[in-house]
Amino acid sequence: MQVAVSGGKGGTGKSTVAINLAVALRNLGVNLTMADLDVEAPNDHLLLGVDLANEEPVNQFMPRFDYSKCTKCRKCAEVCEEHAIITLKDGTPFLMPTLCSGCRACEIVCPVPGAILEGSRLIGHIYVTETPYGFTLVTGKLKEGEERSMPLVVAAKRRAMEIHEKTGGIFLVDTAAGTGNTVSKAIEFSDLLIAVTEPTPLGIHDTELILELGKLMEIPTWVVINRADLGEKGKVYELAKKYGAEVVAEIPYSEKVVRSYVSGKPIVLSDSPEAEIFKAIAERVLAFGGGE
Ligand code: SF4
Ligand code: SF4
Repeated sequence: MQVAVSGGKGGTGKSTVAINLAVALRNLGVNLTMADLDVEAPNDHLLLGVDLANEEPVNQFMPRFDYSKCTKCRKCAEVCEEHAIITLKDGTPFLMPTLCSGCRACEIVCPVPGAILEGSRLIGHIYVTETPYGFTLVTGKLKEGEERSMPLVVAAKRRAMEIHEKTGGIFLVDTAAGTGNTVSKAIEFSDLLIAVTEPTPLGIHDTELILELGKLMEIPTWVVINRADLGEKGKVYELAKKYGAEVVAEIPYSEKVVRSYVSGKPIVLSDSPEAEIFKAIAERVLAFGGGE
């Protein structure tokens, strides 16, 4: 079973919900693998109070030109949708590496064998961290200055799924904020989408986008309202109803929650009313999955 935790905009408490849900599920005896696919700003490890470990580089194809063979026909530049290849007046191709998506279209279209050689560049890293909570956290982290996050999201998710296939149970995905294509890729194949929101005008607007995405992808969607006492939560309920989504939890603003993530100690492990909220969500997830 794959469960995705997402939020329309940044700062809604998406990662707080994701890590507390992970710990709560594990405490219910569920085998679990977690993937932090917010590759531009992964922070699940910080909230869990663990250091990233077992670094694995992620490289991406990048063409290299053998100018002794290149006939300067420009076909590679013409086919490149990313405009990553520019040509001089005489047709000599040059690559702008940060624009290259690694699609290999240039290599396929090049009519001269050996004119385009296999090259690669580092786009980021994957970390496979054993947490003290009894589950593995796979984290994708984009290299600074790198503009394309999709290849890293794909690589990190694939790596996490390999581990999940061995451990079984629940595969919990924490996505980036927003509704871009990397979020869709992270959510893809989920059995359940949990949209974390806050009842502010911007939060409600962005929640509609994520509910729309869940509907388009035909994934049952739940809503968790964070800082539920700091806005018009009635509007979130109305929106959820419109999309056939269920509001499964309200988390009030709590300094205890803030302190827990600053200190890297999941609130769900404390003896507090907030902990009970996350435990209840975990029990519902378990019931939804038929007690996996
Ligand atoms: S691999 Fe794709 S994106 Fe990169 S230069 Fe070639 S055609 Fe362009
Ligand atoms: S398609 Fe091949 S031969 Fe033509 S310009 Fe590009 S690298 Fe050179």
